[in-house]
Amino acid sequence: MRPETLNPLFTDTESLEGVGPKLRKPLEKLGLTRVRDLAYHLPDRFVQRRAVTDLDDVSEGEQIVVALTPIEHKASRNGRGPYRVLAQDAKGNVLAVTYFGRASYTAKKLLPVGEQRWVAGRLDRYGDMLQIVHPDHVAEDSAGLMGHLVEPVYALAEGLTQPKVARLVAQAMERAPELPEWIEPGVLEKHKWPVWRDALVLAHKGEHPAARDRLAYDELLANSLALLLVKQANRARRGQPLKGDGSLRGKLALPFPLTGAQQRSIAEIEGDLAQTSPMLRLLQGDVGSGKTVVALESMLLAVEGGAQAALLAPTEILARQHFETLRRMAAPTGVQIALLTGRDKGRARESILMGLLDGSIDIIIGTHAIFQEAVAYRNLGLVVIDEQHRFGVSQRLMLTQKGKVTPHCLSMTATPIPRTLTLAQYGEMDVSRLDEMPPGRQPIDTRVISAERIAEIADGLARHLESGQQAYWVCPMVRDSETEDIAAAEARYAALQARFGDDAVLVHGQLRPELKDAAMERFASGEAKLLVATTVIEVGVDVPNATLMVIEQAERFGLAQLHQLRGRVGRGSAKSVCLLLRGSELSETGKQRLALMRETQDGFRLAEEDLKLRGGGELLGTRQSGDTPFRVADLEQIQRLLPLAHDDARLLIDRDGGLTGPRGEAARLLLYLFERDWGVQLLRGG
Ligand code: ADP
Ligand code: MG
Repeated sequence: MRPETLNPLFTDTESLEGVGPKLRKPLEKLGLTRVRDLAYHLPDRFVQRRAVTDLDDVSEGEQIVVALTPIEHKASRNGRGPYRVLAQDAKGNVLAVTYFGRASYTAKKLLPVGEQRWVAGRLDRYGDMLQIVHPDHVAEDSAGLMGHLVEPVYALAEGLTQPKVARLVAQAMERAPELPEWIEPGVLEKHKWPVWRDALVLAHKGEHPAARDRLAYDELLANSLALLLVKQANRARRGQPLKGDGSLRGKLALPFPLTGAQQRSIAEIEGDLAQTSPMLRLLQGDVGSGKTVVALESMLLAVEGGAQAALLAPTEILARQHFETLRRMAAPTGVQIALLTGRDKGRARESILMGLLDGSIDIIIGTHAIFQEAVAYRNLGLVVIDEQHRFGVSQRLMLTQKGKVTPHCLSMTATPIPRTLTLAQYGEMDVSRLDEMPPGRQPIDTRVISAERIAEIADGLARHLESGQQAYWVCPMVRDSETEDIAAAEARYAALQARFGDDAVLVHGQLRPELKDAAMERFASGEAKLLVATTVIEVGVDVPNATLMVIEQAERFGLAQLHQLRGRVGRGSAKSVCLLLRGSELSETGKQRLALMRETQDGFRLAEEDLKLRGGGELLGTRQSGDTPFRVADLEQIQRLLPLAHDDARLLIDRDGGLTGPRGEAARLLLYLFERDWGVQLLRGG
């Protein structure tokens, strides 16, 4: 249960004055549903205004506060142009205060002719006339405006204005209680950070890096604490030590020797499985680094040790593909492998459930359906989760709570994230890295091409398909513009189908699963030659004969995402090509990013560079889901403060594992404040 102190922060925004059903919507759009969210709705930036006595030495574009005396009101002749109030400063300089839209009433009321008013706004020029368009404030005396020399600028949604948001934030801050300190005193002192409430107040008032850092640190600390609590709780759990005798693995007839990195990872996993406390390990390996074999060896180890193993895939397509691959690879061992997805119904499903219960199925592969209530195992010893980033920590926790004893857990991810973010995302796990590619991979020839040359590209594609090879055509898909993006992908498909007929298939996220699978199967079997897709092919799909990839509007993808997409080609022995189509208006960082794609195929390097480029102020327009688990801390702060926060969290847990001392109690509040309370639940359970 959430501590009562925090209740005022977790009440609905509707409890604030002025928030009714009408304001709720835009607030919701910004993710501001509770008082807490408003308190943490930190300004994007601040306007700084200079108070001046006259306009003589003001430059254009400057934000000022100045006393003006209106001399004339001028409505536009046809009523459609702007409404202008001509006004004079103390030295007789004339400027226009300009309003667009129906503003004559406001203007007459605020700026009566002959009476001095204080006006705050940005000085611009229109032709040879100085002007202030839509002043931010107009007041009768200077006192009213001097408090506004620095003003926050908040992210808005339609229906909200800066003053409205500012008023709501102010109300939220009034409800914010004083909270005890959870940061290590030494850390607090060293950085000269304000206490929590003061930091929040300051962060809304002006540019206070110390306040912003403290708030970011809080969030990072909460995250690290929660992850370490998971680790601690896991260590206390009883698992099943599994020792393999090699009898099954020995029968595997792999067509290649394992890489050094694969051998090392398998050895680490073998070591973990032999322990009583359950394994919690992340296998991090770039696309194509060979994670599947590591998963298979681990699962066979578990089966040799007398247990069952489950492999969880994020999508049906991937589950199916894993099933085919693993069944083929494991055929000589004689282990029983089955597939279970949400679509399996009736008798087929029943017989799989029976097999899991009586132990005749050794390895089950599927989507989250394999962890539903009704699914019971005889002895589940190992859970492998593929493409980890799709699952949050709390989901991960649920998965491992099947069975009398906690199964060992191996998570696999191909998202090459920088080391600092690994800590943020997977801080509760031990990490094995596949940092070595299987030998003999040909580099993928990557080119950046203007989208205007699409006709040429289509001709090239036609030649490619005629030669008997297959190709991907990827269209962007961003959550914010999902409908438009799907329409664009469908239009592209229609155009390509007009040329290539049945050779082309389409797959996107809103397609019915049966249609999606049918299309995928036609492509995987080689019957279809061209797969037009949104990013659903991002993870895991493996068709070695597909050696050409076209990515439309490549600038809209994140580097990591482009890298994963590109990893779909270059899987066979033939030379592969990746064409990145760019729009005509490309930002400087956009250019740099695409250039990097051309330059390197090292996913970890791309991830580090991506972080640098985006930390450098690039808008997160291409923000990927699960990119970072943070809302307050930005990328720069994560890199600078996370290692510190992580150490602080570790110290606290080492000293006060139950979070029962005064600082521990404060830390509990922090976990609730940042909704990492699943960390606290674990304390109670253990
Ligand atoms: P990912 O890490 O992306 O899941 P996969 O497991 O799908 O990678 O492996 C990619 C390809 O590399 C597969 O075709 C697989 O058979 C092959 N492969 C895996 N390990 C090796 C190895 N040690 N030597 C050669 N090829 C390998
Ligand atoms: Mg894979």
